[in-house]
Amino acid sequence: MTDPQERFDHLVARLRERDHRLTPQRIALVRLLAESQEHPSAAHLYSQLKEQFPTTSQATVYKTLALLKEMGEVLELGFSDDDNRYDGNKPYPHPHLVCVCCRRIMDPEVALLKTLEREVAELSGYQIVGHRLDLYGICPDCQRE
Ligand SMILES: [Zn+2]
Ligand SMILES: [Zn+2]
Repeated sequence: MTDPQERFDHLVARLRERDHRLTPQRIALVRLLAESQEHPSAAHLYSQLKEQFPTTSQATVYKTLALLKEMGEVLELGFSDDDNRYDGNKPYPHPHLVCVCCRRIMDPEVALLKTLEREVAELSGYQIVGHRLDLYGICPDCQRE
């Protein structure tokens, strides 16, 4: 797992490099992204940010997410039946574990994926540049209910 503080410092440095205006709202949003393990939606980030900065606009959240995505620093997960979710810790393709009850999204530890990629590349002749793997299930908390 990425160290949230390191990730936060990295994201702030990258944004500064691009000479982007770093308002306190933006910095707080970057911190939420760096610290969250839950793959929040934009709406969720917005409501969290609003607690600290009541005047924050939704546009701030969407613009910052779009910029970080363009810079390859955030992974966007689109779902046909749910809001897009964001991973600010691991901005590269990796498998996700989605709870069908509470929509919690985790990063499971999967060791075989590199082998799978290599095998598919060898068999198909493709150069693999990414993947999307979602595993659906019922999380332990939801199972208890
Ligand atoms: Zn659940
Ligand atoms: Zn993830």
